[in-house]
Amino acid sequence: MAVTYELIKRCSKTGARAGRLYTPHGVFDTPIFMPVGTQATVKAMSPDELKAMGAGIILSNTYHLYLRPGHDLVAEAGGLHKFMQWDRGILTDSGGFQVFSLGPLRKITEDGVTFRSHIDGSKHFLSPEKATEVQMALGSDIIMAFDECVPFPADHEYARESTERTTRWAERCREAHTRNDQALFGIVQGGMYKDLRAMSAKDLVSLDFPGYAIGGLSVGEPKTLMYEMLEHTVPLLPENKPRYLMGVGTPDCLVEGVMRGIDMFDCVFPTRVARNGTVMTTHGRLVVKNAEFARDFRPIDPECGCYACKNFSRAYIRHLLKTEEIFGLRLTTTHNLHFLLNFMREMRNSILEDRFLAFQEEFWAHYRK
Ligand SMILES: [Zn+2]
Repeated sequence: MAVTYELIKRCSKTGARAGRLYTPHGVFDTPIFMPVGTQATVKAMSPDELKAMGAGIILSNTYHLYLRPGHDLVAEAGGLHKFMQWDRGILTDSGGFQVFSLGPLRKITEDGVTFRSHIDGSKHFLSPEKATEVQMALGSDIIMAFDECVPFPADHEYARESTERTTRWAERCREAHTRNDQALFGIVQGGMYKDLRAMSAKDLVSLDFPGYAIGGLSVGEPKTLMYEMLEHTVPLLPENKPRYLMGVGTPDCLVEGVMRGIDMFDCVFPTRVARNGTVMTTHGRLVVKNAEFARDFRPIDPECGCYACKNFSRAYIRHLLKTEEIFGLRLTTTHNLHFLLNFMREMRNSILEDRFLAFQEEFWAHYRK
């Protein structure tokens, strides 16, 4: 088995749980946040820096790597781990999300999706088999089934047809997948419809994947609706397999997701906003680029132990961002990733000590929405 999950501790009051994932590239503790490295790099960070902040697994995007530099080239380089010099875990998405986001540039059939590259307009075809082949060439530890992320809002009929197709595609991915050092996760869809979420979960669980993602959430719906969908879906998934909530990575959603039994998260948000001068703290977001911080000589977050917070002031970081110095966005990225990884570790400790509910209450007492 490529990837195995060990459930270590269940919270006695909520659905939260602490576990461990064993992969061919190391072991990591869950719940975990996975930094996103779209183009085989977590923007502005070196692999050593990511390791120093305790990142156990990162996410990379199949669509982008398929177009540039091409999965054949990555395979020739010895696989994605070797190509980017990252010897810990890698999860790749299937490319479905990006391809479906192309709007008028793509056409869906039962067979797969024809699309035009956002880079040069060239024509390509991605199918369950192709997405699996590309991810096998990349050599990531966890690969995802090719799915359609049901847009929000979507009517019931469209959501049902799409969700049923996603299940048929998941079966085809399983057929096409031959690398036993990789785990292929199924993705539960179903839009914002409880009956479709239940159908999707049941059908995918019968296909017996080594892990399950919940997709199609955090796509513009109110957060309360996302939590409702999680509450409805997570209990339908097997307890002895990891559960991954796709595209979610703000502190409030991480706490609420963990509370409902999620083990893995990823999101471009923390690194993307960092480059625009927004940082995350236990008290909420701070736009460090704002004029109010021009003479603020305190660290970004006095409670944070990251390299940026231990050494530099808000005023200095603001100055770097205003003058478009590369070091500025390296510092904000360092802080945001360190902050989230540490936040997950603290949350995990609270589960191990069975005080997660108190952790959650303490978090909400300080966090400004
Ligand atoms: Zn910091």
